[in-house]
Amino acid sequence: MLKALTFVCALLLPVAALHAAQKPNIVLILADDMGYADIGIHGCKDIPTPHIDRIAKAGVRFTDGYANGSFCTPTRAALMSCRYQHRFAMEDLGGPLPAQAHTLPKRLQAAGYKTGMVGKWHLGSEAGFTPMDRGFDEFFGFLGGGHQYILQPGGKGEYNAPILRNRDPVDESRYLTDAFGEEAAAFVEHQRGEQKPFFLYLAFNAVHTPLQAVEKYQVRFPSITDSKRRTYAAMLSAMDDAIGRLLAALDQTGQTDRTLIFFTNDNGGPTTRNAVNGSVNTPLRGSKCETFEGGIRVPMLMQWTGVVPAGSTYRQPVMTFDLSATALAAAQADASQVDGKDLLPYVTGKLQAPPHDTLFWRSRTMSNNYSARQGDWKFLHSTEGDASPGPKQTPARDMLFNLAEDIGEQRDLAGANPAKLDELKKLYEAWSAAVDADAVQMGLTPKFPKNAAGPKP
Ligand code: CA
Repeated sequence: MLKALTFVCALLLPVAALHAAQKPNIVLILADDMGYADIGIHGCKDIPTPHIDRIAKAGVRFTDGYANGSFCTPTRAALMSCRYQHRFAMEDLGGPLPAQAHTLPKRLQAAGYKTGMVGKWHLGSEAGFTPMDRGFDEFFGFLGGGHQYILQPGGKGEYNAPILRNRDPVDESRYLTDAFGEEAAAFVEHQRGEQKPFFLYLAFNAVHTPLQAVEKYQVRFPSITDSKRRTYAAMLSAMDDAIGRLLAALDQTGQTDRTLIFFTNDNGGPTTRNAVNGSVNTPLRGSKCETFEGGIRVPMLMQWTGVVPAGSTYRQPVMTFDLSATALAAAQADASQVDGKDLLPYVTGKLQAPPHDTLFWRSRTMSNNYSARQGDWKFLHSTEGDASPGPKQTPARDMLFNLAEDIGEQRDLAGANPAKLDELKKLYEAWSAAVDADAVQMGLTPKFPKNAAGPKP
């Protein structure tokens, strides 16, 4: 009788309400160091990305989606902690993410999720700080910041570190991006028939250097004459195929319609400083490790069939940690102490105001640049940043841009609008002091640039 009643109720519920009542699976795909311009949906012409584009067509594209950091670890720290990484004094490469962070996978585990991670961690390799310690039931990948794609037995150093399954090294010979796609698909297939919803975090090291691609991908791009761009294209194409494998596994196991899927990238394409890989950030200015738009604005997509309008765009500024918060809300998990916002009410039009009044970036130890965005206005403190660090760099200075009129940050309005500059700078300084105070309160030590003026804790 109860069963019959439930069935009748289910018939009466609209599709969206049904979805909301059922905890969705959650798949979070993170690329590494890809260019803003390098997906089909952003107009890329020389590298087809049909599987990434499929997510955009089936869901929402965030035109003003940002990474929390301008390089790897800080963004990942925000994604996993659901907060500004600065609250955990995370401003450098490597980590570890302090134990004080209540991680996304831990929260999802507590909400009844099976959790799996495939790929690059970069938030600590010390005992107690690995994926298996921070909330993942299963792990396949590596702990450092990058890796050889064509594995070299006996190789030394971080990029030859063992590939791990859970905690144990495995013999692995596959092209690494292929391996990650196959392992992600296998994780989904293993959940077939399980009662628990699952969370899968697929963190590619593609398309971070080293530039390595196998022949089957290289041959796809005979017309790209620049050899760096050609190998980058092959690596990106391999990553898109791997995403296709994962999406096919969701289709084949009948899970696509009850899975919330995210795709984003951890920072802008490295076009001028370290780890230059042939990526393109056009029309944005700047590169990885900078807080110009090219360093922080990234592809960002979200799909949830029947809930998120297919083929839609959302234009208010959002950030990596909003994806964490959205996942927590969809999973009805503990969302206390998060800085991100659940984006579902915004992309479905239920809430009209922007999710955030102002967003902030700060990278004191890498390049000592920082910025704030409020509406169309962006405050930025940076060098001009078009060359390698060194004598060619201009001294860092304050700049102000109106992104609605000037997405390429070419016209500095600091002199023309000092009041707006001052307003944003004050907001930035207040935020910066507040996140440092939080870190100190948790017993952590905020990082300052070498030779910095001002107080040090
Ligand atoms: Ca990166």
